Amino acid sequence: MSFQEILNQPEAVAYLQKSLRGNVPQSLLFCGPSGVGKKKVALEFAKVLNCLDPKAREKGEACGKCARCIAIEKGMYSEVAVVDFVYQTRLEMKIEPSDPDYEETFEKELAKQQNISVDTIRYIMTLSQQKSATGGWKVFIIDEAQTLQYGTGAAANALLKLIEEPPQKTVWILLTDKKAAMLKTILSRCQAVQFAPLPTETVEKLVREVRPDTHDTALAARYSEGSVTRALRAAEALEILQQVPQGPAWPAAVAMELPRTAVAARQSAQAILDVVLQAVHRTWKETPAVTARRELQKTLTKLEKYKQAVTRNVSPAIVVETALMGLNENIQIF
Ligand SMILES: [Zn+2]
Repeated sequence: MSFQEILNQPEAVAYLQKSLRGNVPQSLLFCGPSGVGKKKVALEFAKVLNCLDPKAREKGEACGKCARCIAIEKGMYSEVAVVDFVYQTRLEMKIEPSDPDYEETFEKELAKQQNISVDTIRYIMTLSQQKSATGGWKVFIIDEAQTLQYGTGAAANALLKLIEEPPQKTVWILLTDKKAAMLKTILSRCQAVQFAPLPTETVEKLVREVRPDTHDTALAARYSEGSVTRALRAAEALEILQQVPQGPAWPAAVAMELPRTAVAARQSAQAILDVVLQAVHRTWKETPAVTARRELQKTLTKLEKYKQAVTRNVSPAIVVETALMGLNENIQIF
């Protein structure tokens, strides 16, 4: 991967490459929908800053081959950290990875994550203050940055102190898909870099790369809204929906196909409802008749309610079955 290979984010990449020639901004905010390459670009930026090949660096690129580029790509470079819910869950785990229950407990704890906590920010604060072992740049990429102010707001305040007085050769890159929800005090101290939704063809190409066994990439991309993450979720949902042919037995059969564990079943149910919602919405947009539109509007409201129900203590299978049973035959999903 290099900046040149990052698809369809030309403005963000051009801005970052330009910034490498001057004073490197120490606090950046990458905003835009999820699944459009924010994390990838942030990691590439970390590589360019630390790359051992001066010729590549001069061009504003990382070589991708030196020890540092490879270590960053593999997530093994101690001074570049992607601080997301996975990172935080690992920090919070009270049992060792060698414990036989580790995987299962980890998945459960990960599903509970709601916000980046003050303890996590304090932990990376300590890392940022330690003397660099390599003399390179430290880069901290903080995902879901809009969640920092949840609760007491202590995490946001701790981070604010860090970005106000950044240690030398340290860059903070905050990632968010909800810029409007970010604290103004944080926004005003960060250089914002805007990321756009990807064109459908780009999503299709990336899905083919990430999940080559996807049944119908073009169809998944149609449900992506320009996001690879959404396309991958839609692909899984569509595969469940297509396991059995549409007919009277379809709703119950689809419900039976949901994954066995509660967390995974809930996620699949959400993804299925998202696909159905989009299909109904598309039909609504293409329907001129007022009465039919009103009916579709009612279906949309119901589906939103079902989506909320899945987050509560209701069986995802029952919700999916009910939602599909109430679906008009005119709705074209596939
Ligand atoms: Zn390199």
